[in-house]
Formats: sequence, C-alpha cells, structure tokens
Amino acid sequence: MSVSTSAPPAEPGEAPIRHLKPAVDPATLTWRQPRRDAFWQQIPAWRDVDRETFGDFLWQEKNAITTVKRLVESVRELVSDAFVADVEAGFARAPMAVRISPYLLSLIDWSAPHVDPIRRQFLPLASDLEPDHPMLTLDSLHEQEDAPVPGLTHRYPDKALFLALDTCPVYCRFCTRSYAVGLDTDQVEKVHIRASKDRWARAFRYLRERPEVEDVVVSGGDAYRLKAEQLLEIGHGLLDIPHIRRFRIATKGLAILPMRIKAGDPWTEAVTTLNERARKLGKDLAIHTHFGHANEITSFSEDMMRLLQERGVLVRNQAVLQRGVNDTHDAMLELTRKLGYVNVHPYYVYVCDMVRGVENLRTTVDTALGLEKRLRGATAGFNTPTFVVDAMGGGGKRDAHSFEHYDRETGISVYAAPSVKEGQLFFYFDPLSALSADVQAAWQDADQRAEMLQAAINAARAGLR
Ligand SMILES: *Cc1c(COP(=O)(O)O)cnc(C)c1O
Ligand code: SF4
Repeated sequence: MSVSTSAPPAEPGEAPIRHLKPAVDPATLTWRQPRRDAFWQQIPAWRDVDRETFGDFLWQEKNAITTVKRLVESVRELVSDAFVADVEAGFARAPMAVRISPYLLSLIDWSAPHVDPIRRQFLPLASDLEPDHPMLTLDSLHEQEDAPVPGLTHRYPDKALFLALDTCPVYCRFCTRSYAVGLDTDQVEKVHIRASKDRWARAFRYLRERPEVEDVVVSGGDAYRLKAEQLLEIGHGLLDIPHIRRFRIATKGLAILPMRIKAGDPWTEAVTTLNERARKLGKDLAIHTHFGHANEITSFSEDMMRLLQERGVLVRNQAVLQRGVNDTHDAMLELTRKLGYVNVHPYYVYVCDMVRGVENLRTTVDTALGLEKRLRGATAGFNTPTFVVDAMGGGGKRDAHSFEHYDRETGISVYAAPSVKEGQLFFYFDPLSALSADVQAAWQDADQRAEMLQAAINAARAGLR
C-alpha cells in the first residue's frame, strides 16, 4: 500500500510535529468517495438518460421494474442466456413479488451479476437456492400473534409496531414480513394489511388506551408508500397522544430512492413538518432506513442526507447481515464508515431472519460475533451497530452475544428475553450449509431433531442467569 507523507511543511521557526503513525493516503479513504459517474448508462435503455432525468423520483417510479419480463428485457444485452434462465427460474420459485427501482438495478455490476451484493439481495437465482431449514415457519417472528389489533404489534412493554400498509417501493428477498408484504405470489398467499382509515383508527384507539406505550415504529410495508397526507395524519395522530414520546418512520425508501428527498417534495415536506412539531413538543422523531451494502450509498444519498441533516431529521440504519453481501470484515467496515460519513447512524445489524427461500443469504450467529469483534473500535461507538438476533417466536431483538447457550455444531442458539416474555426460551438456527454432513442429516430426522433441541434447552436452562 502506498502511504503519502505529504503533511504540510512546518513554518520557519516552528518545531516539526512528531507523527506516531505515517499519515494515511487520502486515496485509501474509499468511503468518502461515493459514485458520481453516470452508472445507469450501463443499462441499454438508459444510455441517453441524463443525471437530471435519472435523479427525478417520478421518472424512477414510472420506470420501476415490476415483472421478470421487464427485468430481463432491461439487462438482456448485458447477461448470458444462462443467467436469464437462472433468474427466470429463481423468480418462479420465490415467495416474494418483484419490484426494483432503476437506481438499484443500475447499481448492480452487470458484468458480474452472480456475485454482485445488490443482485443477491433483490434478484433470486434458482442456482442460489438452498432448501429451507426444517425449523422455519412463515411469520417466524409471531408478529400476528402479538397483534391486539390487525397490523399493530405490541410485544415490548413500552413500544409498539404499527404496520400502516403492506406495499413497498422495492421487494427484498430476505423480508421478514413476507407473510404480508407484496402481492400474492405462486408460492404464498398473503395476509393483507391495507392502508385503511378504519384499521388505523382502531390502532390509534388501542394506543390511546395504553399509557405505558411511549415509542411507536411506523412501518409496513414501507412508509415511503404513504401519501404525504397519510403520513401527516399518522404522524400528527401519534404526536397528539400525550404519552407517546418517540416515534420512528421506517422506510427503505431512503436507500433505494434517495432522489425523492428534495425541497418541495410533499413526502419530504411532511417529514420536516412532523419533525419540527415533534421538536417543539419535546418529542423525538427519527427515520429508520435500511442500507445493506456500501455500493448503495452514492452521491444521490449524499445530497439526500445533506438536506435531512440541514432540517434536523435524524436517520438511523438497520442492516440485515447476508452471506455474500456484507458478511466480511471489509464489507461491514466500508458500510459502517460510509453510513457514518453521510450522517446515518448505524443502529442494528440483524442476523438474517428465518424466512422462506433465503437460506443462501443467511449466516451463522458465529459470523455476527466475529464481525462485531473486529468492527467495534474502528470508529465512534455511536456509529457502531449492535448485532442482534430477532428471536423466532416473538422474543424480540437480542444482542447476538447474549445467548444462554450456543452449539456451533448443531447451529442452535438459545436466548432468553426476561423483559419481553419472562420464563420463555427462544431459538435461532444457523443455516444447514454451515453444518457438517452428519448434522445436516440429523436435522432431516424428526427424532434426532427433537433430541438436539432438548439438549440445547437443557444446556440453556442449566446456565440460565
Ligand atoms: C423492532 C421492533 C420494535 C422496536 O425495537 P427497537 O429495539 O427499539 O428498535 C418494536 N416492536 C416490534 C414488534 C419490533 O419488532
Ligand atoms: S422494504 Fe422492508 S418491508 Fe418491504 S420488502 Fe423490503 S424488508 Fe420487507
């Protein structure tokens, strides 16, 4: 590595400063250099599209790719016949609907789509698919069982999750809410949670009747899909409830359509209005977004964050740890630093939920532990995410390190969540492909499966604090 020693020379008469380490070559500070090139022009249909057009949110929405046919047409000249067959078969077997923004599509490196981290997150290939883990269930987080009103999950004592609607500006393969989000597919018929005033009114009534709730997450689906008036109605409604002190707007929109955030855009103005009112009331509002890989952060993201920063809107990030996307130290470090550089606070990295059809994206808990160890200390503590497991069965988010028991051989980790569900144990299961052939075979046998689970439960109970 070349190291520059071009520190400015000392003024005459000034004592030189002793540098304990060689100065860093600015060219190595890669996270400070988001893409500014016309990367979308690699897509044949957009070869003549200029920056202004590409940076227009309505153009992005109009050109969103929502069918496999459109997807294939867009990249046909760039990929092999084998890739086309692979992606067509991948979607036919996928439990998620197709939706991808032109912005995301053109950030994929189409000369190497198999390994591209953005392609892996959004476009399934049949050749990537691994059989699901036998312990997997649809709605593995029990969001519906913990819902007193449809679309309102009240699991933790002082906070609630409000699912405002069930559509998104993009459909992610690893989505936890694949039980509800998106259109029905050949594989899954969904539980619909539509944007409906009646349903919202019932959720608000429940919240008003629960003085202990201080914190509400407005999610979906995705709050980017709410019209500005709807966002204002929900936001003001929450701010009107005296005991609600904090609320968050959860949207992946910032990551996949940053060009929407502009002065004069109704959604942007609605968030600004709510943020100003929240501040006047002494309440806390934040946007929670979801960048998964450093390649998703470009000069468009930089412009967006500049505006939100100016307007005092706090943005935090919740990433999902995915194999072949961000499961190496270098990838996680670059993502974390790049987020910090544009003033997005890395909040959580989730060990990938047990969702249908994404075994090839899941990692072991051990991967999360190893990444966290190397990441902590690389930058400010408030810019360092906590690695969490969202425990199956509704235990909520647990620090990945806090297991009561973890058997790396069977891949079973056991968590307790005393302030969420006292006395219960919760599990996470490493992907089968990370286990030995013998253990993989054992998981396919009901008796051996029960034995492995019982052994893990016994070990966890024995060590319970
Ligand atoms: C994630 C989540 C929350 C918010 O949890 P934090 O750890 O505060 O981010 C609230 N309710 C439900 C059901 C959740 O899944
Ligand atoms: S944007 Fe969020 S809710 Fe929508 S598909 Fe992606 S992960 Fe799921």
